[in-house]
Amino acid sequence: MKITQDNKDALIKKAAKDIVDSRKTIALTGAGISVESGIPDFRSAGGLWSKYDPEEYAHISAFQSNPEKIWHMLKEMMELVLGAEPNPAHSALAELEQMGLLSSVITQNVDGLHQRAGSREVIEFHGSNQWLVCLECGYRQEAASLSFEVIPPRCPRCSSILKPDVVFFGEPIPWEVQTRSFEEAGTCALVLVVGTSAVVYPAAGIPPLAKQNGAKVVEINTEPTALTGFISDYLIQGSAGTILPKIVEEVRRHVS
Ligand code: NAD
Ligand code: ZN
Repeated sequence: MKITQDNKDALIKKAAKDIVDSRKTIALTGAGISVESGIPDFRSAGGLWSKYDPEEYAHISAFQSNPEKIWHMLKEMMELVLGAEPNPAHSALAELEQMGLLSSVITQNVDGLHQRAGSREVIEFHGSNQWLVCLECGYRQEAASLSFEVIPPRCPRCSSILKPDVVFFGEPIPWEVQTRSFEEAGTCALVLVVGTSAVVYPAAGIPPLAKQNGAKVVEINTEPTALTGFISDYLIQGSAGTILPKIVEEVRRHVS
């Protein structure tokens, strides 16, 4: 179907009504929601990931075998993330939660922008860039306290190289994070899938799991994804920073 402004507006109204009527709504977010905050997703031309192949740089075996090399990418990514601000898409989800209409945000992002926008129930599926951990002795340190002058940073207790507390490819998702996420997915009536290509498992299993349990799946993305026309009930095609605030504006009309 050709996207016209009219049918996009109709879908925005439909999504608002679906949220208001839903017994329980969750959101699954991906890198796309932070693109308008200046953090590139895997696809953005000229971004971080066009310089550093994620397969090569974001795999735990690469970190283990050559942490100095990986830390050059991490330094650039952390400086970008620590300097970024939440955008209207993050704020819209925080507002939905404050209105009592969003149970949780499950995010694949490691940038902490949902929390900074005011969301409280945030499940960080792939960990967070806000912390550094020592894999040898368990020491933890806030990333903001790092000067980045000397990389790779070392543990002040045991001198091992510190690692951001993010889940690299090849690392397991923490057990309690998976349990909570799948519990939310299995008990919701609606899932908003925002800015994710939904190809990285096990996070990509969340929309199908929700669907199997009878939930509606609504996608907000600039492009169709692997879920579109298959798992998702409908896609609202456009940028999250434009679409989500419009949905919330419509929701306000219903509840006020
Ligand atoms: P992805 O790069 O595979 O897909 C991003 C999706 O967002 C695409 O479908 C794209 O069409 C869409 N998109 C781009 N700009 C958008 C916008 N303005 N509004 C709405 N949609 C938009 O990202 P993914 O699915 O999250 O998977 C990549 C993995 O990389 C994740 O596991 C994540 O942990 C990691 N990652 C995180 C960050 C971050 O923390 N901000 C950034 C890059 C990658
Ligand atoms: Zn240590």
